[in-house]
Amino acid sequence: MYVNQETLKQFEAAREQCVLCRLIDGNIPADPLFSNEQISLFKEIRPKVNGQLYITTHTHYPLLAYVPYEVTTQLFGCIPQIVEELRKQVACTGVDVLIVAGGVAGQTVGHVKIDVYPRDPSDGVYDFMIKPTVATERKDMLANNLTIMLRNHARRNGIKPIISKKDVPGAIYQDNHCAVLCPEKGVTKGHLIIKSKVNNNVEEWSTEHAAHMLYVASFASTALFEGLGAQGTTILLRSGQSDRQGSCKVHVIARFPDDDCEITPLTGNKDNRLNKMSITFKKERSVFDDLASLI
Ligand SMILES: [Zn+2]
Repeated sequence: MYVNQETLKQFEAAREQCVLCRLIDGNIPADPLFSNEQISLFKEIRPKVNGQLYITTHTHYPLLAYVPYEVTTQLFGCIPQIVEELRKQVACTGVDVLIVAGGVAGQTVGHVKIDVYPRDPSDGVYDFMIKPTVATERKDMLANNLTIMLRNHARRNGIKPIISKKDVPGAIYQDNHCAVLCPEKGVTKGHLIIKSKVNNNVEEWSTEHAAHMLYVASFASTALFEGLGAQGTTILLRSGQSDRQGSCKVHVIARFPDDDCEITPLTGNKDNRLNKMSITFKKERSVFDDLASLI
């Protein structure tokens, strides 16, 4: 979403009241695990599991849809390196990445935040996929909107048109890197699943692939807001053995009041011992260059 200077000023006016901005500005003491000009990683002070951390932007963006492409690429692109680092530092069999938007999805801070949970199947943090009982509505419209959004995104950023390589049957959107599926039954009336076509080990994803996967998730979230009137969305990347279905997926779930789709975390206060992390952003070929080469 294009953000003009006036809107940016409004976002910045919220800094004083925002706990994440206060952390970033040094008004609340904090020692980031990693920080560069755009993003920081912080250790969760009331963790549900050992090793829980979050990633946030230095600019106050209330929603993912407002974050510019260059910043989103860093925000999402660091995830594989964090997953790899957590698997070295913490005993875990998988890592979940959670992005919530809207109060009904559990968003408590009006500033983009990505929560990262090292997991093992018995930790009882939450079991989010327990009730896949509802049929997703208006699939054709979601498919249409998602394709248009990604095409516009390519155009806006001066990149060549996206060409979909259609090798996954039934996908509502696909390109060279991922396929978006609409399961027969979901946990709410809007539940989409994004699968990587490249690799199921998140820690082996390139910066660009990770960024693209979550970029598509972000647009899928917008499609659910606009198309189904969702009042919130939950984006959940499950990797490793935290997923009972056993493979890497990004779930994008439309949220509604009383949707009976609760994350039920344990109360926190586990130890959280984490060492500093080193994140590097290599300049890579844009995924859209690869997509354009399919023309
Ligand atoms: Zn803020």
